[in-house]
Amino acid sequence: MSKKLTGNQIRQDFIDFFVEHGHTAVPSMSLVPGGDGTLLFTNSGMVQFKDVFVGTDTRPYKRAVDSQKCLRVAGKHNDLEDVGRDDTHHTFFEMLGNWSFGDYYKKEAIAWSWQLLTDVWGLPKDKLYATCFEDDMGDIPRDDEAADIWKQQQGFNPEHVLFFGRKENLWQMAEFGPCGPCSEIHLDLGEERDNLRGTDHVCGVNGECTRYLELWNNVFIQYNLFEDGRLEPLPAKHVDTGMGFERIVSVLQGVDSNYKTDLFTGSLEVLRSLTGHSEKEMDANFTPYRVICDHARSAAFLIADGVVPGNGGRNYVTRMIIRRAARFGTKIGLNQPFLAKVAESVIDYYGDFYPELQKNKATILDNLTREEVRFARTVEAGTAHLQNLLSDLLAERSDPIGERSRSAMLDGHKAFDLYATYGLPFEISRDIAREQGLDIDEAGFTEAKNEHSKASGGGKAMGKLGGEDSEFFANILKDLQSGRGGVTPLLGKDGVEYDPYNSPKVEGEVLALVVNGESVSSASLDDVVEVILPKTGFYIESGGQVNDEGYIRSSSIGSSTADRTGGQQGQSWEIEITGVRRAAAGVITHIGQVISGQPKVGDKVIAEVDIVRRHNIMRNHTATHLLHKALHEVLGDHARQAGSLVAPTHLRFDFTQPDAMTPEQIERVEKMVNEAIAADMPVHKETKSQDEAKKEGAMALFGEKYGEIVRTISILESDSSLSENTQQQAAALQSKYSYELCGGTHIDRTSDIGAFLIVSEGSAAAGIRRIEAVTGRGAYELINKRFKTLKQTAGGLKSSVEEVPAKVEALQDEVSELKKELANLRAQQALSTFNLHLANIQTVKDVNVLALEIPDSNVDTLRMLADKFREKYPKAGAAVLVTGATVIAVVTEDLVKRGLKAGDLITGIGGKGGGRPNLAQGSLPASGGDVKDALGKVEKTVEEKLT
Ligand code: ATP
Ligand code: MG
Repeated sequence: MSKKLTGNQIRQDFIDFFVEHGHTAVPSMSLVPGGDGTLLFTNSGMVQFKDVFVGTDTRPYKRAVDSQKCLRVAGKHNDLEDVGRDDTHHTFFEMLGNWSFGDYYKKEAIAWSWQLLTDVWGLPKDKLYATCFEDDMGDIPRDDEAADIWKQQQGFNPEHVLFFGRKENLWQMAEFGPCGPCSEIHLDLGEERDNLRGTDHVCGVNGECTRYLELWNNVFIQYNLFEDGRLEPLPAKHVDTGMGFERIVSVLQGVDSNYKTDLFTGSLEVLRSLTGHSEKEMDANFTPYRVICDHARSAAFLIADGVVPGNGGRNYVTRMIIRRAARFGTKIGLNQPFLAKVAESVIDYYGDFYPELQKNKATILDNLTREEVRFARTVEAGTAHLQNLLSDLLAERSDPIGERSRSAMLDGHKAFDLYATYGLPFEISRDIAREQGLDIDEAGFTEAKNEHSKASGGGKAMGKLGGEDSEFFANILKDLQSGRGGVTPLLGKDGVEYDPYNSPKVEGEVLALVVNGESVSSASLDDVVEVILPKTGFYIESGGQVNDEGYIRSSSIGSSTADRTGGQQGQSWEIEITGVRRAAAGVITHIGQVISGQPKVGDKVIAEVDIVRRHNIMRNHTATHLLHKALHEVLGDHARQAGSLVAPTHLRFDFTQPDAMTPEQIERVEKMVNEAIAADMPVHKETKSQDEAKKEGAMALFGEKYGEIVRTISILESDSSLSENTQQQAAALQSKYSYELCGGTHIDRTSDIGAFLIVSEGSAAAGIRRIEAVTGRGAYELINKRFKTLKQTAGGLKSSVEEVPAKVEALQDEVSELKKELANLRAQQALSTFNLHLANIQTVKDVNVLALEIPDSNVDTLRMLADKFREKYPKAGAAVLVTGATVIAVVTEDLVKRGLKAGDLITGIGGKGGGRPNLAQGSLPASGGDVKDALGKVEKTVEEKLT
């Protein structure tokens, strides 16, 4: 190894090397794999190319090179437990990869990897090993091809080819489907790197110790494996490689841990400056340091990809990782939020290559600190509670009669309670349990969590009509398509034609009527029916946009098909349509009630969408796209759609965002949307391949499944000088203000929206905010309503609308002045009542006793009067003062010594309260009867208590 390269240079070396060999450099995909519901996080380089391997998609290049962001903390790949314990596994890491899609194969792949490792980077040739596949089940041929190629590499020791079986060297995407042998490159780090030195263990490639490091996996996808065990060669063979970036950096920088590379220097230094540890002290505590650096890096990348801390799914992982890092922080004395500082060094280091970190810097830092603060509020109570549970377990375990096996494991439901109540993630509870030699039942935790999310509505709700009757409708479809008895088929192979975009009014004939689950030839007034027509323009609820409503009316009665159904010449009829659904593949039904006449199969009809309602919906849908765009601008790219409703009356938009928006942010968003409306931008609708749309930067929504061909909605930076004809071409050239994959219906120009007003902003769920807004008519109605209220207010204030705020302020000032005056008057009045009674005070034995009710007063005045009483009678005085239900009692010190306490006076009149012996405060019961009677008992108490 000649010069010491930085991590960033090593990554660039890798990319440059393969670009020189004809590869296209492609960016990493997000940690959130779009459109792949089976995977929580991107966990290897191949995720973004999966569809190419299975043949459902293609790329414009045949060779690619990339560095892919990966996360292995959930699902099949979970390395969490290795992190901190070893020096080679992270939760987040980068995987360097070169790819061939049906282009070059083993010969080039192996030669290039050898060349890069040894010629370019100068790794010692005699220390490198290559593993190849030999089937331990004997079904798949041994990969002699790869082995032979290895042996031809200049300087490679032929004895360093080793064969391994399916577990190590067969790559399968799933149980069946594309698969192939792989060849892994391992490096012998030398005897001194054997962490099990001196013990009896397997020391070798894929062995038990850390001496041999797996660096790079070259996968050769060549077979298709069928369910019956058949193995067929794939028509196109692919290469998929993955090299652990952090590992190669550690090797090239000559350090014995990934954490000692320059990738982590910044983070470690920040931590060390926070703890004040010396390097030696840091090394002695290396586990917490490693865990924190690893987790802070993962959290930064996750938040940059929009995964903010939360309670469910991906968001839970971010939360868990931050909290776990925070807890490890306490082990090295960090008890205040500190992760933002560590993340800052991550952003500094990685920000150039991964600009999303820079772009979301404020969001990342802010989310980290907030999450630490949230955790700090409950962690103590949580760990104390957990400790109680663990202590019980430990006690049970030492109890000789107790069941040992059961007691060593904490109930998963209890662990979930700890999470639900104290925010203690399972992984942290498990850390704590394991530190004491105990464990937690993970399956139980997961079960409890699932139950909880179902109970709180997190589970997927069944469709309105469940699809239980889809077979029934499929049979109707078959009949309509078969054209029995020489009649021409009534429906083509694709079934009912669906065109909600261009056909709000469709002519056709009634193909089928269904009432109460039965196919009928005619329906009667008031019947609720499902109507099948050859074509429909009614939009079926999807992507948040609600169903269309409208009417189906008979157009001409007694058509040529009338005799087929045996129908007679009839009157006109009408069905009010309130629902549409896809009852089976190829079958769309209109659901509604017959409001006049008797609809019959074969009648000619016009089906018409309620166009006013539809336009309201379209305004709200286009406005939703503008809102989405504005939220990105104002809050950042993390503010992604998490749910949406597009209705005629209003729109509702849920998005990932940890905190409430400020009034200024809400105002800015509202303003931006209205500016976009005023800009009169054209809304361009197109269908194209999903791949093309994504490549052009169209925004796809999380969790939405898109087909091969997608519909895109672009809102173009306006150029109103263009004619309709030129717009089509211009669309490709014009810059896009907003670009989304969307199957909904939209207006043609943003100005059609009219106006956009945010009605509310609030919380929808943990980490998710919700905006409700109105447009067009809805906006007018809202303005009108508010304006009326304002006018009424102005009328009431006898002012103009403009003067209302000043008037209200003046009124408030006046009210508070008056309140003050009233309080003064009352205090004066109270004082004069008090003085009057003081002048005529009663004595009991030798004691001056005052028992007095002062109406309309307050506790402060009572205290003031009590003080005055004590001033007048520093000795031999006792007083009880009441206003409303409040009582104050005072007793001079000499009387306290003689056995009379202030509290006795309160209880003496049936009240409750407490305080010092010489001054007590309390209250009278609400239904305590007459106050005068009560006060009459004061003298008696004084008499009784005094000795
Ligand atoms: P290992 O056996 O070391 O866990 P693996 O077999 O799980 O590795 P692959 O799935 O083949 O690894 O991934 C390709 C490369 O990515 C590995 O050769 C390794 O260099 C690197 N790698 C895998 N997991 C991690 C991780 N958790 N952190 C850092 N690098 C990793
Ligand atoms: Mg692994």
